[in-house]
Amino acid sequence: MRLLEERIRRDGKIRDGGVLKVDSFLNHQMDVELFQEIGKEFLRLFGDCGVTKILTIEASGIGIACVTAQFFHCPVIFAKKNKTRNIAGDVYTSKVESFTHGKVYDIIVSKDFLGPEDRVLLIDDFLANGSALQGLIELVRSASAELVGAGVCVEKAFQPGGEMVRGMGVRVEALARVKSMSVEDGVVFC
Ligand code: 5GP
Repeated sequence: MRLLEERIRRDGKIRDGGVLKVDSFLNHQMDVELFQEIGKEFLRLFGDCGVTKILTIEASGIGIACVTAQFFHCPVIFAKKNKTRNIAGDVYTSKVESFTHGKVYDIIVSKDFLGPEDRVLLIDDFLANGSALQGLIELVRSASAELVGAGVCVEKAFQPGGEMVRGMGVRVEALARVKSMSVEDGVVFC
C-alpha cells in the first residue's frame, strides 16, 4: 500500500534491534485518516470472506482493528494480556512472547465472544517473529472458529514470522513489507 510505505519512509524511525518506531502515526499518536485507508484496503482484501469478528491484541492493534471493523460492520475483540496468575475456565488462553520486551505472557479472550459460528480476521500493527499472530491463531482454534486470515500493517520480512504463519496454512496479507532497514539506507520495501 503506497500511502503506508510513503508514511513509513517519511516518519518511521529505525531503532536498534530491528525495531521500527511508528509512534507519530500508528501506535502512539494515531492518524485516523490513514487508518481509514488501511481499513478500506483490508476490506478490499478480505471483504468477501464473510468475516463475523475481528480479533486483535492489546494495545497497539486496537485502534487499527476498530477502524477496520467499521468497514466490515462487525465487532472487534481484543485479546487481553492477562495480569493475574489464576486463569478462570470461561476464557480461551494462549501464550505470546513480546518482541519489544522479550517477556512471555498469557493472552485471554472470553468464551462469550468467540465460538464455532465465527469467521475471524486477525488484525495487528506489526508482524515480526510471529508470536502475536500465533497466540491469536491458537485462541481461534480453541474456540473452533474459522480463521479467514490475518491482515497486518507492517511485515518485517527479514524476520521469520511471515513465513512461519503462512507455513501454518494461514493467509497473511501485509500492507507494507519491509525487506531491510538500516540507519544508512533507510527502510527498503519488498
Ligand atoms: P511478533 O509477535 O510478530 O514478533 O511481533 C508483533 C508484535 O510486536 C506487534 O504486536 C507489535 O506491537 C510489536 N512489534 C514487533 N516489531 C515491531 C517494530 O519493529 N516496531 C513496533 N513499533 N512494534 C513492533
